Parts: sequence; structure tokens; C-alpha cells
Amino acid sequence: MLTRELVEERSFFDGLAVQPADGLLGLIGMYRADPQPGKIDLGVGMFRDDLGRTPVMRAVKAAEAMLLRDQETKSYLGAEGDLRFVELLAGVAFGTGADRLVGVQTPGGTGALRLGAELIARSRPGAAVWIGTPTWPNHAPIFRDSGLAIQTHRFFDVASAEIDFEAMIEDLAQARAGDVLLLHGCCHNPTGADFTAEQWQEIGRLCESRGLLPFIDLAYQGLGDGLAADAAAMRGLLGALPEAVIAYSCDKNFGLYRERVGALWVQSDASDLVRGNVLALARSIWSMPPDHGAAVVRLVLENAALRADWAAELDAMRARINGLRMALAASHERLAAIGNQRGMFALLPLGPDAVEALRRERGIYMAGNGRINIAGLTLDNIPAFVAGLAPYLS
Ligand code: PMP
Repeated sequence: MLTRELVEERSFFDGLAVQPADGLLGLIGMYRADPQPGKIDLGVGMFRDDLGRTPVMRAVKAAEAMLLRDQETKSYLGAEGDLRFVELLAGVAFGTGADRLVGVQTPGGTGALRLGAELIARSRPGAAVWIGTPTWPNHAPIFRDSGLAIQTHRFFDVASAEIDFEAMIEDLAQARAGDVLLLHGCCHNPTGADFTAEQWQEIGRLCESRGLLPFIDLAYQGLGDGLAADAAAMRGLLGALPEAVIAYSCDKNFGLYRERVGALWVQSDASDLVRGNVLALARSIWSMPPDHGAAVVRLVLENAALRADWAAELDAMRARINGLRMALAASHERLAAIGNQRGMFALLPLGPDAVEALRRERGIYMAGNGRINIAGLTLDNIPAFVAGLAPYLS
């Protein structure tokens, strides 16, 4: 290993700062090595079944078999990816009202967020993006690394486990015309707290009156209240406003995580200009997105039987999550709000000491901020989980 002095003298990379390790990925190794019986993994955000597995969905397996059998070429597709995939997925996301949208395939929701951020930075260098706290930890780095300025607004009150909408609106009074407002379309990560229909309408009015561009991150469609219900807020906003950006991930609702499947849509009257720039940016970042996962989604969505089976399995995943939510909410008065929240996550009112003690003494693993992946629980281990938690919840 080079000493610090040598690095300073010799390395081309001595301008770099040491980066913190990814806490969640570190948890995976610690969990595996933990010998405690009855340990519970609520860390990484992936759906799990009753046996703790993250299965390949049935329709995905069937579509993969079709691909293997029928695919005749691996020739390049182009920067826009699989346009039939984009078109079919637009039907899932937007219903029939997707006519003013420019869409391209991206490597996951992360790729869509980054591409959207780069597009904004190209048009409005240094624009500010307003992000509610807390949020998915990758949001701020994605926008910051694209050259945009990050502004935070209050969003969630951990103690009451509720959205503090008044505080959010108060903070957004500082936003200026041309700023961007990042919104979770449904199933907020990490809190599970989604806006009411009235609050969405107020957000729409705020964007309109103050000239803010809504940037909607929709990564969990179908895992909250259902495919159409989870998209309703986004659809309403698109109907109310001339311009918006949508980053979509298929990695949760199709269980395709490592295949990196997503899409970016931009609603704008300047659609030709937008499309040309989105494609030019994609060319210079990843040239074209990986094909396999999007081809699988296309096959599932264009085949009526596979599509119905996918929707049924997604319904069952959602039912499992919401069943666990209800059981958790009923198990302790301080967890009651979890029953009104949606999606895979809840944020518990725990400090870092409590999170660490639960890990050490009970084998209960969660993110350092107290976020739990609800799908990591089972109806059988909820009592032990809540018993471990209870001393910290008073
Ligand atoms: N947005 C949110 C809110 C997320 O939770 C995630 C994944 N954890 C993503 C985007 C990115 O999804 P993907 O894995 O498709 O990049």
C-alpha cells in the first residue's frame, strides 16, 4: 500500500477524497456471519417471500425461456433502447394519456434519474433540485454529480411518523422559478409515507404558480395499492402541468434488480429538442442500455397470459407486504402509522445506538437510519421483532 506521502507525490488521483463504505452492502456480510438463531434481515431493499427469498417472477422466467429460444441476434439496438418496451411500459405507467411524452429505455431507475438530471443540467446549468428529507440516499449524489445544486426541504417527522406538509410548503417558499422538485411517485423510500390526493393537488398548484419542474421517481408501481392506484398521483400531475420528468424502475415490480431495467420520460412541448438531447446524453454515458431485462418486460407485457400472471404475482407480493404492515401496525401503538403507509419500507424512530444494539443483541439488521424493509419480516417473526424493538419505542 502507498503511504499518504507517496500518494501525494505520485498519484494522479490524489485529488480524490476517501469515500465512506456503503452501509447497507456492509450489512449483508455482517448478517451472513451472524450466528444468532432467529436473526432477521431488514436491510437491503428487495422484496422477499415468506422464506426470505427474492424469487425470479414466474412470467419473467417464462419470458426468459422464450428469449433464449427465439432471439436470433444480439445486434445493437441504439441509444433509445427497446422502443416497444418503452411504449408498452408507458401504457402501464400512464394508461392511455401518454401522448406528449418522450421516452427512452435506461439502465434501471438510477440510470433514468441520472439521464434526467444530466438533461436538466444541460438546459439549466446549476439549477437547484429540491429534495425532501429523508430520501433514498442516492438521490442527492445523482443530482449533485450531474452538476445541479441540492436544496433540501422538510418532509417527514420521524417522531410522529407523519408527513409534515406544512413545513414542506414553508420550505418550498424559498424555491425559485426554474428549480426542480423531486417527488416519489408512490411507496416513499425510506418512510413509506405518501402524499394524499389533496396534497398532490397542492403540489401541482405550487409547481404551476412558482414555475417548478416536477421530477417524479416511480420505482415501486404496483407495490403500494395497485398498478393504477400507485400511478394516479403522477398521472394527475402530468395532466395539470405542461412539463415534467419521470424516472421509472422495473427492478422492483418485475423483480429484475440486477438486470437494470428502467425508463426516462419527459413531458414537454419541446419534444424533438428533448429527444435529441436525451439520446446524445445517453450516447455519451452508456451508449445504449443493456437489453435482456427490457426484452423480458416487453415479452411479458405483450403476451396476455404472461401479463396476467405477472399482475397476479405482483398482487400477491403487494398483499404480503400490506399484510405484514397491518400486523406490525397492530403490534405496538408506536408502530400504528405503518398501517397507513405503503411500499416496502418504514422508518422507525430509532437512533444509531438502538439500531446497533438491536443488531448485536437480537440479530435484527436494518439501515443505520432505522429504515426497515418490511418484506424481510414474516408473520411468524413479527412478535420477536417487536419484543426486541419495544424497549426503544417508548
Ligand atoms: N428510486 C428509489 C426511490 C429507489 O428506492 C430505487 C432503488 N432502491 C431507485 C430509484 C433505483 O432503482 P434501480 O435499482 O432500478 O436503479
